[in-house]
Amino acid sequence: MKLYNSQSQQIETFTPTQQPVTLYVCGITPYDTTHLGHAFTYTIADILVRHLEAGGHQVRYVQNVTDIDDDILRRAAEVGVNWRALGNRWTTHFIHDMQALNVRPPDVYPRATTMIPQIIALVERLLAADVAYESAGNVYFSVAAWPEYGNLCHLPPAELLAIANERGNRPDDPHKRAPLDFVLWQAQVPGEPAWASPWGPGRPGWHIECSAMATQFLGDTIDIHSGGSDLCFPHHASERAQVEVLTGRSFVRLWLHTAMVEHEGAKMSKSLGNLVMVRDLLTHYSADALRFYLASHHYRRPWTYSQYSLTRAAEQVHTVLRAVQIPGGEKARFDAAPYCRYIGAALDDDLNTPNALTTLLHLADEILSAASAGAVVSEAQATLRALSSIFGLRLGFDIEPAIHNGWARHLADFADGGLATANALATLQIPDRYSSTWSVRDPLMTSLDPTSYPSVVSTHLSPVAP
Ligand SMILES: [Zn+2]
Repeated sequence: MKLYNSQSQQIETFTPTQQPVTLYVCGITPYDTTHLGHAFTYTIADILVRHLEAGGHQVRYVQNVTDIDDDILRRAAEVGVNWRALGNRWTTHFIHDMQALNVRPPDVYPRATTMIPQIIALVERLLAADVAYESAGNVYFSVAAWPEYGNLCHLPPAELLAIANERGNRPDDPHKRAPLDFVLWQAQVPGEPAWASPWGPGRPGWHIECSAMATQFLGDTIDIHSGGSDLCFPHHASERAQVEVLTGRSFVRLWLHTAMVEHEGAKMSKSLGNLVMVRDLLTHYSADALRFYLASHHYRRPWTYSQYSLTRAAEQVHTVLRAVQIPGGEKARFDAAPYCRYIGAALDDDLNTPNALTTLLHLADEILSAASAGAVVSEAQATLRALSSIFGLRLGFDIEPAIHNGWARHLADFADGGLATANALATLQIPDRYSSTWSVRDPLMTSLDPTSYPSVVSTHLSPVAP
């Protein structure tokens, strides 16, 4: 499989050297609702996982929750809610959105606050390596100690500070030796939550959390690290520095960044107030329509939200649905095998989901034509379903049990009263259509076993390139 590596700025052949393939995706900071940009990042990761599995690989997938952070504390104070309740509340909301979108759960879904001992241990190692320093109960990473700092993102050195400042850096912090040095551990501010540490009470910096969680669950070198492109600097650059300065070897074999989603002429962001919320879209469109729409964009190209295009995606999903439902005839069997190869090849080609979906639609059109002409299409319909499942399309089936149950297990970690105490926030209701309209089964469909999709796909897709 070929993928673009942000670090080398090249499309590289991604060759798994181990099973399972290890994947880390930066998760949410839960203080607001899931927007289309989040959905793009996590559905792209989902397609990558599904495609790797369809190619015969196992995947171990870790996604974190940044459940202690300046943004969470600020929002909690604004709305008068306990910070942990706020985080639980919005993580729960996010999980329900992921379930509704039929996105596979990560195997491990750690929250940063459960990893404090591991984070402290990593900070201690950085201090012992003399690449970090303590000042007034804070610990900072000294970027001067690692000359490669920032190389990951290929930004001009003169611009690093301005970008870091836009994304949470405090250049005027009097305890820092250099403005770009970033915090590993920050001393407690009165009134804020804190954990005991060798440097006094405080809380971890954002970047060290991900380094600790990634290495804890996936080892010192992971295969693929993904996240939104706005995380490349300083977050991923810092994550990389913290690990590579200690291990002396590559932290990540392939950095995969998903492009930003724009709306009303600017990147979708909370600060600009131009967010398109997943929950709102799902009151008007099916999850299949939204997933088809998201996957119709290549993961590396920024794109702009368009209601027209989303409506068109809904129509295209309807075409696929008609194709898997149409009764066939008794004439010569329609052979869908070539489409499996085309779609497999498109996804092997830097996860080209737009081309893959074009082929999927072509297959749907051909099945409709063949069925109308009296051909046997049942096998082709099973193949179309299996291929659709790589994009997370349910086509009338329930959410896959492994997805619902896997997320439900993670949900239990975020249920300690968050819902009951977050009264200042909007009510959390899953629209009825998630559990009713979209789970209606057509009699024709019940003869197909949705759990057989991966095995059906794996016999047809060309294997991931060795
Ligand atoms: Zn991260």
